[in-house]
Parts: sequence; structure tokens; C-alpha cells
Amino acid sequence: MKILVLNAGSSSHKSCLFDLGQGTPDGLTPNPIWRAALDWTHQPGFVELTAAREAGESVRRSLPITDQADGISAMITTLVEGPTQVVDSLSEIDAVGHRVVHGGQDYSHSVRVTEAVKAAIRDLIPLAPSHNPANLQGIEAIEAILGDIPQVALFDTAFHARMPEAAATYPGPYAWVEQGIRRYGFHGISHQYVAQRAADLLGRDIASLKILTCHLGNGCSLAAVKGGMSIDTTMGFTPLDGVMMGSRSGSVDPGILIHLMRQEGYSADQLDTMLNKESGLKGLSGLSNDMRVVVEAMDQGHPQATLAVEVFIHRLRREMGAMIASLGGLDVVVFTAGIGENKSLVWQRACEPFEFLGLRLKDGELGRTKDDQDIAAADSRVRVLVIHTQEEWAIAQACVALLQPVA
Ligand code: ADP
Repeated sequence: MKILVLNAGSSSHKSCLFDLGQGTPDGLTPNPIWRAALDWTHQPGFVELTAAREAGESVRRSLPITDQADGISAMITTLVEGPTQVVDSLSEIDAVGHRVVHGGQDYSHSVRVTEAVKAAIRDLIPLAPSHNPANLQGIEAIEAILGDIPQVALFDTAFHARMPEAAATYPGPYAWVEQGIRRYGFHGISHQYVAQRAADLLGRDIASLKILTCHLGNGCSLAAVKGGMSIDTTMGFTPLDGVMMGSRSGSVDPGILIHLMRQEGYSADQLDTMLNKESGLKGLSGLSNDMRVVVEAMDQGHPQATLAVEVFIHRLRREMGAMIASLGGLDVVVFTAGIGENKSLVWQRACEPFEFLGLRLKDGELGRTKDDQDIAAADSRVRVLVIHTQEEWAIAQACVALLQPVA
């Protein structure tokens, strides 16, 4: 079975092809046989197309394409033509899985794409104005290129859609409840994957575990996973809530926004740009949204970089504490995504305050490894796992589960 996965974002797309006929040893994630990406941020009026076969051959081209569907078409062509060809015909593809950012309250599971599902994704555009349109166009572009192929949507909000009302409801006027202004949460595909992977690695039933998952990438969010369900999470109505991120502020006093509007005449668009693009590590350090750059500057004594890292750690610990309170206990902490998979400084500093719970990391040097790893000391009462998130594989697995006939 060949499954194409498409993650269509606002200014870049990622895609990969899994060949599930190749057989994978139990417990291991297969590598895609082909990967490709489109990036419109390099040069106005052009898209950078990159594609690579697992076997090594690759291409990189700058194409004068601005239309998303045309870009996807050029990307898909590298599956069947040129040095990155991995299939003889596109008809060999059995299904396409899509990451869709917002599924609202109604979608708590992955679904086969129908006209009704497309209409729902369209109706949710006001809640995810930069993502859902790209996701929908991705689905429509695949329809145009591959015809009547089964397509599956996985929503980033789905894992959190059954959160208790007390965790999902913002304490504004009741009208907010009626208007759908609530905590939706994001990164759900990743939180769900790493929580299940943690249970598998520990040989435990996920239903018996209290797991705190920390997805720390460009966007950062935490989830409290109890009995296999997300019962609380730090991102909210939008992906701006919660911990500090690369260029997003995370939670700030909403009074600051009122102050800036009244005193400085800020518009909604200016606040949007400030909070999403000019805050977080980038805003405080004045250097970069990339943790690697900021930590390097801190190591060289840059005061703003030091402040940025200290605030990042402080915010992370606070929100970890909040998630642990929601869980009412703690069996496992998982770190994942770019920062979470790589930065031992973050593991150590984030875990320090929770030693009173019996959480202890291994002594000695900790560092990134190719494989998922347990970095807790043997006698720690809490396991601490570093897990490589595999959102694309999770999407491919969901396609298989939905498309295989029920026995
Ligand atoms: P996204 O959220 O866009 O999927 P990633 O999960 O790839 O992003 O995370 C990207 C971020 O991870 C980078 O901006 C950088 O801050 C951080 N990162 C990536 N590699 C490392 C590393 N080796 N050490 C520390 N931080 C890293």
C-alpha cells in the first residue's frame, strides 16, 4: 500500500510517500521512500521545490510558480519523473493523508474526506485563517491531480476535542461559549503520537498512565494526557496561547493589548504581527527565533539572549506545573520536536523543579540520539523520554486504519 502524506502550510508544503508493502519490523517507524517540499519564502514570484528519494538522489529547483495547486502538481511530478522517481504511475498511490490544522469541536478523530468534511474545513477558516485555506486547497489540488482517490484528514485539534469543559472554557462572558470561543489546542497529531509511543516504549497500557507531553519546536505546546486522552493543553483558541515560542509570545496579560491599542494606537494587524512574529525568543533576544542561535549567544554573554532563554525556561516550568496539576500526578514526561528532541539544557532546566516528585535525570552528559531515549535515572519515580515526533507516519497510519475494511 502506498500512502502519500501532504502537510500544506501557509507558505510552505511538505510531502512524503510511504510504501507499506515493504514490511517494517514491529515497533519501528518506516522511512518514507520519497520526500519533497515547496517553499515560497525564498524569492517573490518563485517557489523552491526540493525532492529526494530515500535512496539518496535529490533535486532542487526554483520555479516561477505562485499558485499553490501548480506547485503541488510540480512536486507530485517528481514522484514519477527524473532522478527522484519512485513510482511508474501516480495510479500506484492508494490514498492521500492530509494534516488539517482546525477541525473545530466536531472532529475528534481522523475522517475520510467528503464534501461535508471539505465544507466543515471551509466553515472553520475564520478560526484558522492562515492554515485551513491552504489545507483545503491541498485537498482540492490532489483531487485535480489524482482524481477520485481516497483522502483522509487528520486534524491538529482532534486529540484535544474531548477535553473536560472546565479546561476548554475561557472565563469570559457566556456568549463566548455560544460563539465557539474556547480552548481548541493544537499539535494534537504529535501529542497523541508521542504519548502512545511513550506507552509502547515503556511496555505499559496508555490507559494507566499520566503523561505530560512537551512539543517544543518553532511552535511550542504542552498536553496533559490521562488514560490516553488529552485532558488539558497550553495552546488555546489560537496557537498563540501557552508557553513562550520561537517568535510567538505565548500567554500574556490581555490588558497589555488594550494598553497598546489605547496608548499607542495599535491595530489588530499590528498586534497580530507583534505577538506572532516579533515576540518569543526572537523578540526578547533581538537575534533569532532559533534556540540554537540564542543559546550560542547566551554562552558568549549576550544579555538579551540570556534573558530570552531564562524566560523560556521559566514559562515552560510554569506550564508544566499547570499540566501536572491537571493530571493529578505524573508517570512520564515526553520531550519532542526541534528543541525538545535536541536540547539537553532544556531537559535539565525544565525538569529541575520537579525533583520533589521523585523525578531525576541520569547523571553525566545527556545528548541527542538517533533513537528515542529514556533520560531518567534508573531510580527516578517519573520516566523522562525524548521521542522523535513522527507526524507524517501518524497520518499514514490513520489512512491505513480508516481505509482497511473492518474484519
Ligand atoms: P516546527 O515547529 O516548524 O515543525 P521543528 O520541530 O523542526 O519546527 O523545530 C524547529 C526549531 O527547533 C528551530 O527553530 C530551533 O529553535 C529548534 N532546533 C532544531 N534543532 C535544534 C538543535 N539541534 N538544538 C536546539 N534547538 C534546535
